[in-house]
Amino acid sequence: MTLTFENTDSTAGMSSGFAALGLSGAMLKATQNAGFTEPKPIQVQAIPPQLEGRDILGIAQTGSGKTAAFSLPILAAIVGLGTKRKPRTARALILAPTRELAVQIEETIRVLAQGLHISTAIVLGGVSRGSQVRRIAPGVDILIATPGRLTDLVREGDLTLAETRWLVLDEADRMLDMGFINDVRRIARATHPERRTALFSATMPVEIEKLARELLKEPVRVEVAPQGTTAGEIRQSLVMARLKQKRKVLSDMLADPAMSSVIVFARTKHGADRVARDLERDGFEAAVIHGNKSQNARQKALNGFREGKVRILVATDIAARGIDVPGISHVVNFDLPDEAESYVHRIGRTGRNGADGIAVTLCAPDEAAKLRQVERIIRMKLPVAASVLDQPDPAPAKGAAAPRDAEGDAGRPRHMPGRTPRGAQPQRDGKPGQGKPFQKRPGGGRPFGAEDGAKPAGAKPAQKRPFRSKRRPARGRAAA
Ligand code: AMP
Repeated sequence: MTLTFENTDSTAGMSSGFAALGLSGAMLKATQNAGFTEPKPIQVQAIPPQLEGRDILGIAQTGSGKTAAFSLPILAAIVGLGTKRKPRTARALILAPTRELAVQIEETIRVLAQGLHISTAIVLGGVSRGSQVRRIAPGVDILIATPGRLTDLVREGDLTLAETRWLVLDEADRMLDMGFINDVRRIARATHPERRTALFSATMPVEIEKLARELLKEPVRVEVAPQGTTAGEIRQSLVMARLKQKRKVLSDMLADPAMSSVIVFARTKHGADRVARDLERDGFEAAVIHGNKSQNARQKALNGFREGKVRILVATDIAARGIDVPGISHVVNFDLPDEAESYVHRIGRTGRNGADGIAVTLCAPDEAAKLRQVERIIRMKLPVAASVLDQPDPAPAKGAAAPRDAEGDAGRPRHMPGRTPRGAQPQRDGKPGQGKPFQKRPGGGRPFGAEDGAKPAGAKPAQKRPFRSKRRPARGRAAA
């Protein structure tokens, strides 16, 4: 994958707009409703083949305009089908790895679908199941879902995918990271054999290439650079600091009012909580989102940040993935991510829509190996803007708790650093509530299609369990 940060807007100078892509009537109105005047590059590339019924393999990030790129052709196809839907079915299914992304997709589709008499529903973990079941009971046109809760509903017989003829897998690489890949395979197999499929991914690891080969029929490959779909530029730099120094470095940086809207990335959920706590103690209001927070708390934090009520959002990689908040001035990496590619996703939160962005990474000496991996991926050496390595560690606060309480905190005066985090163990964000592994459930019987394929690193081996309906046998490709 080539990572570039320069202007890649291939529509610059085009005047033909959405009509030239083959969209007509109601769909042009839909783009007007959304306030879109010119299509984005991903839309230029991806809409015409989908209108012709082709499958799509899209390499694009959130922020590129991919939601409209896959939604408009689906809306165009569904709009003529009328309102007679079979109970507990979905004509189109969009799978997203996180609740936040699913909510964002639904919001976009709702805007595009205004006045089209197209029904949408959303199925997510972490919120009431009953209301979701009631919503899909009469059948829906477009269902947006995270894989875990969707798997539950299919297994329980509250939903059948046998009538689903449009399938979108959004942020497939993140679904892989989160261990959803075999859920995704089962879900895809349960859909109509003649479905049209679009798979979008910011990166293309081998596992995703393999999934694409399994699920897509002669796809058209479309690709836009991950950052800067307009002329925005991200200035990246490093501040060298030991872990014990990072709290003070961060607080000192945030004293600069130019840091008007900041996402601080932490590697672990505990780390994110600790950073937010330390910031509050240092006099900064900060919201925090990670996988252990309830859906409501995450949405509230995100809304506060989006509306500018909170200047600083502390987030883990998975929680922040797919979040599109315009106007983020700075991204601060409190730690280097475990996976180098996350760095690209992190810094891509800033520098959007033509604005310039600044990304600062606090790097401790023991993170040198991770830094090298990041630099390999972005194909540049990050410049060191400052180093505090030659300065002594700030003294621990008076009355600090015993060192073993490293994640906790005693009250400390302003700008006093935190203690060393316990063991600094890497702790990946796990799946939030929605990601119940399929194989944990009791069950047996015939598998729901072909063999489960490759397993992502860290994923439990799949045990080929079918969706088993308590009401009626599952239908779909493999069960046919
Ligand atoms: P997405 O990558 O789908 O999350 O889209 C990122 C943002 O771009 C969203 O806020 C969309 O509303 C916006 N967007 C998508 N397509 C267009 C377009 N053609 N013109 C202007 N804004 C767009």
